[in-house]
Amino acid sequence: MTARDDVGRIVAADLAPLADEIDRQGLYPETVLRQLGEAGLFAAHVGPHPSLWAAISNMAVVGQACLSTAFVTWCQDSCGWYLANSDNTGLRDSLLPGVASGRQLGGTALSNPMKAYANIEAVRLSGERVTGGYVVTGTLPWVSNLGPDHIFGAIFTVPGRNHGVMAMVQCDQPGVKIAQRSHFCALEGTRTMSVMLKRAFIPDSHILADPAEPYLVRVMPGFILLQAGMALGVIRGAIDAMHEAGTTHRHINAFLPEQPQLFEETLETLEQTVKELAATPYENNPDFMRRLLEARLDAAEASLRAANAAMLHAGTRGFLIHGSAQRRLREAYFVAIVTPSIKHLRKELADIAAGGGCMSLWKSTASAQA
Ligand SMILES: Cc1cc2nc3c(=O)[nH]c(=O)nc-3n(C[C@H](O)[C@H](O)[C@H](O)COP(=O)(O)OP(=O)(O)OC[C@H]3O[C@@H](n4cnc5c(N)ncnc54)[C@H](O)[C@@H]3O)c2cc1C
Repeated sequence: MTARDDVGRIVAADLAPLADEIDRQGLYPETVLRQLGEAGLFAAHVGPHPSLWAAISNMAVVGQACLSTAFVTWCQDSCGWYLANSDNTGLRDSLLPGVASGRQLGGTALSNPMKAYANIEAVRLSGERVTGGYVVTGTLPWVSNLGPDHIFGAIFTVPGRNHGVMAMVQCDQPGVKIAQRSHFCALEGTRTMSVMLKRAFIPDSHILADPAEPYLVRVMPGFILLQAGMALGVIRGAIDAMHEAGTTHRHINAFLPEQPQLFEETLETLEQTVKELAATPYENNPDFMRRLLEARLDAAEASLRAANAAMLHAGTRGFLIHGSAQRRLREAYFVAIVTPSIKHLRKELADIAAGGGCMSLWKSTASAQA
């Protein structure tokens, strides 16, 4: 039996029945996450024979049932990806086995720096060099898959330097506080917290990369590609819902302009594109990045279209408070707004088209190295 079979079995038996509670009551699916971790869900891209596509397609199996759980899977997968690609072998060897097996849960706080590299907002964490490490201060409004004993990857700047530093932060370390301050219309079960750092000491042993930018150029294609797992899951779930509605309502649903076949074709094309890009995640030329950003954009837009079509096929059944179609529609918006959001992707693509270069992070790396 493969990891994918095990993941599918756990999703059907243990996760799908919880999807409504995760969505409406904000249940954090920790027990299922640990089970999925034991089954190999978080290991495919960081194991001895790494396959980013295997991680993406396994995440899609999760997202077909519940996007909250697929998103925390992405958080966990990103955390493992950071460790696997770090030159800090001591940090990698101490944390990666736990992250890859789900014993150690963790997240990623990269939305803010990614938007900062793209000149969308300012960097929120600032560090100061001290003996043996950095002390870091700042607040991040939303970081997911957190808890008292969890970790997350974050980037801070050091005044006077023109590059960032990336480190693994522990939620329970002195100077770090997490608090659930926001509630959302979907993805409530993702333990999305505000993170406050007040002169938190980050030892050199927890630095993933210093300077961060050349390392980010290495990890960023995989980070973005992994998000396709969420989109592929939402689209597959929407197709399932359309077929289900068709068992009783085919006579009337046939009049809707968008039929499941259309999304099957979209899904197949997306899967092929993502699989091809995921085979070479360390390629970092402008053409590769343009194709990757376009694929991420297509995935977000197709998620919205498929979830919208599923809602129309489901009718009132989907509109009921426990209806999965309205849940999926709200979830699809998350694929469109999580960093890099549709507007962020369009900005990066416009920049590439205008300047012929790579995305803004690549340009900032060039200026940091100059
Ligand atoms: C459910 C959920 C989970 C998330 N998980 C993560 C995660 O794990 N890691 C991560 O790095 N990011 C996470 N994010 C952030 C996400 O990726 C986006 O960066 C964020 O939603 C802002 O994107 P935006 O396009 O709205 O930003 P923009 O439109 O560019 O600007 C919005 C900016 O305004 C500020 N802002 C607006 N409203 C508020 C508010 N109510 N409170 C505080 N600040 C505000 C923030 O600085 C925000 O970035 C999460 C967001 C959500 C909704």
